Amino acid sequence: MLTILVVEDNALNRDMLSRRLQMEGYKVETAINGLQAIETARTLLPDLILMDLDLPVINGWEATKTLKADTVTLDIPVIALTAHAFNEDRKQAIEAGCDDYDTKPVDFPRLQEKMQALLEGEKLRAITR
Ligand code: MN
Repeated sequence: MLTILVVEDNALNRDMLSRRLQMEGYKVETAINGLQAIETARTLLPDLILMDLDLPVINGWEATKTLKADTVTLDIPVIALTAHAFNEDRKQAIEAGCDDYDTKPVDFPRLQEKMQALLEGEKLRAITR
């Protein structure tokens, strides 16, 4: 079973997304701020991280930079999620090391396509490693 780490400070969004992912057969772990995201990612090594960008304590951009600078968590794909559809946000998310980007409210089929593309890449990397 694949484990997805959902990082979201809004309880309603977090619960909705978690439930939807569980319905699709993913194991879901959650974090409510950027610091908790870093700590949880290091200990649980999820298969993929869905990262809200507007987060307390450490924001999603900084949390992603930290994860991508650490050899332990470097390979975990990160999809940034933000309510802002601005190009600047997208650019900053990619610069921070996010592997992909999507906007909220989440269009689940579209998000799942992006997740599957990255999870496939993970499998290939694991085989050739
Ligand atoms: Mn938020």
